[in-house]
Amino acid sequence: MSLLEIENASVFYEDFQALYDISLKVEEGEIFACIGANGAGKSTMLKTIAGVLVPRRGRILFDGQPIDHMPTHQRVELGISSVPEGRRVFPSLTVHENLLMGAYRNRKGPWTVDAIYELFPLLKPLRRRQAAGLSGGEQQALAIGRALMANPRLILMDEVSLGLAPVVIKRIYEAFPTLIKNGCTILVVEQDVQHVLTVADHVACFLEGRISLMGKPGDFTPEQITAAYFGV
Ligand code: ATP
Repeated sequence: MSLLEIENASVFYEDFQALYDISLKVEEGEIFACIGANGAGKSTMLKTIAGVLVPRRGRILFDGQPIDHMPTHQRVELGISSVPEGRRVFPSLTVHENLLMGAYRNRKGPWTVDAIYELFPLLKPLRRRQAAGLSGGEQQALAIGRALMANPRLILMDEVSLGLAPVVIKRIYEAFPTLIKNGCTILVVEQDVQHVLTVADHVACFLEGRISLMGKPGDFTPEQITAAYFGV
């Protein structure tokens, strides 16, 4: 059984259809990458998995259990945790307090504040600093750390590298194997395909609300991926 299964999901914003009949499976312990251009529907899919949006048609199964009508907080309790686009942290709280907020619906598991500081050592000396004053990369590490504090089985990451310096992006991706080793499955959305395809076990490319390519990254030539990305 797959950890996450999306079956023929169609998602709308009122009259506007953003996703058409999407089906995909994410296996436990893998890194699954969703790529695609601006507006292709990647964030809509993450919001649908997290429970912010409800599919008008189709089903979402987590560990075999239908979750499409379950509220977000219940999904967090089941083990689905989100790192939202724009690395939203609580700006007036300190780094340490932000991490503790992530444990609000804590499940049992390996992630504690100390484990997060070990994963992202850059955060430790900043622990008493207000999150508002952090750099983009520091905020992204904090947003990931906060999501991990819920001890998720599945972590949803939106636009991980958007607006970050290459060295910071590298550091974020270097943390992924530790997440996997600790029992976390990663579903990551990226506009910038370069980095994510080197670490992903499976990739799905979104194009205008549909999946235009799906499989193991090594199964495709760069030309096929470009064609699926831009629809040429
Ligand atoms: P991006 O990288 O820009 O976030 P994306 O692939 O994540 O792109 P989505 O944000 O999922 O794309 O958007 C898919 C489509 O849904 C786009 O056409 C977008 O304009 C539309 N859309 C997104 N949010 C809303 C909303 N709140 N109301 C109406 N339409 C929306």
